[in-house]
Amino acid sequence: MKARVTVVGGGFAGLAAVHELVRWRRRGADIVVTLVDRRRFNVFSPMLPDLISGRISPLHVCYPLEPHCRRLGVRFLRADVRSIEPERPAVVTSRGEVESDYVVLALGCETNYYGRGEMARLARGLKSLGEACTLRDRVLGMLQIASHVAYLLRRRTLLSYSRLARVCRVLILEKGPELLRNCSPAVRAWARELIERYGVELRTETSLAELTDDGVARLSDGSLLPGCAVAWAAGVTPGRAVAALPGPRGPAGRLGVDRHLCLPGFARVFAAGDVAGAVPPGEAEPLRMGVQFSLAGGRCAAANVVRSIEGRPLAVFDPLDPGYVIPLAPGQGAGVVLGCELRGWLPYALHCTVCVLRSWGAANRWGVFADLWRRGRYDG
Ligand SMILES: Cc1cc2nc3c(=O)[nH]c(=O)nc-3n(C[C@H](O)[C@H](O)[C@H](O)COP(=O)(O)OP(=O)(O)OC[C@H]3O[C@@H](n4cnc5c(N)ncnc54)[C@H](O)[C@@H]3O)c2cc1C
Repeated sequence: MKARVTVVGGGFAGLAAVHELVRWRRRGADIVVTLVDRRRFNVFSPMLPDLISGRISPLHVCYPLEPHCRRLGVRFLRADVRSIEPERPAVVTSRGEVESDYVVLALGCETNYYGRGEMARLARGLKSLGEACTLRDRVLGMLQIASHVAYLLRRRTLLSYSRLARVCRVLILEKGPELLRNCSPAVRAWARELIERYGVELRTETSLAELTDDGVARLSDGSLLPGCAVAWAAGVTPGRAVAALPGPRGPAGRLGVDRHLCLPGFARVFAAGDVAGAVPPGEAEPLRMGVQFSLAGGRCAAANVVRSIEGRPLAVFDPLDPGYVIPLAPGQGAGVVLGCELRGWLPYALHCTVCVLRSWGAANRWGVFADLWRRGRYDG
């Protein structure tokens, strides 16, 4: 009988897992694959900041999952995953249970409001297409977003950044003493300089204490800001669907997995992408969240499903880490690539190139390329 493999979540890790499973099936692996996601389409999140600044069309960051699965011979179930039963294993969804022989968890993370109901209701997260579009309409930002917002406003109002700052304040609140704490001092200094140039105000060691229905924000230093639209980018955590799973948790509540990306104690459940805090061999800390590790994790988890079915030893998850770039504003970025610190237009160009190459499907790839080339026509 064919082994039933259910991939939960159609983001980067989930789609990479599906592609890997289809590749093994073409080579003769006896499997049927189901992909479950609550959304009809995959969202290319690294392009959301460019969507906010009007450089990218929302059409080009969405990739429809159902037709893609049909082409691959994979069943697609659009449903909300409620919980996972790891012993059987089974996936409990809003449309019933999906009985499986193997499960690959690739549910990503959600905005963490730290239990603050009013923030969840009044502030905008930055994880989904809907949130990005709403924010773009209401206009505000955090570090990566704030300078994009300033760029959008400047183009719409033809004001200089300094005059713009007088009529519309874009403020970043950072609870800690420093922005981008995990980056090098040079990258941090450059980011600070850049946001100042864009007229964005930074307040460190300050947090949002309260937000009222009519948009008044009270900060931890006691100051009041009326007429605010708030973008909440204070952290992410795995969603409720995996909350009841037993086992260790890493930073941000990410699922603990072994070096094969298997959930400890459950040989037929694997996890990849942001939801899993995979620690590579020889390291003490889990890998940071990011597209490259999600893709590599999805592929590794899927290959280990097939290895497990065939009774072969499982592969160790040990991805290459070429570095990172942070697109801080249109045309400006910073990062560390192959050990070299970069800043200015080059890391931004690298980011755009990688986004074009990694977009799903030729139409989106071309669309993202054309949008970036034209420098955006989506200012509304
Ligand atoms: C604004 C922004 C900018 C970013 N920029 C970069 C960047 O420049 N470079 C970089 O490397 N990374 C970047 N990232 C991070 C990157 O997007 C993530 O690391 C990556 O998307 C993680 O992939 P994933 O497959 O684990 O999860 P996701 O891509 O989040 O996919 C998870 C999928 O699971 C589905 N899902 C979740 N819960 C449920 C449920 N209960 N039921 C059914 N389906 C569910 C979701 O609909 C989604 O399709 C950025 C993220 C954001 C939000």
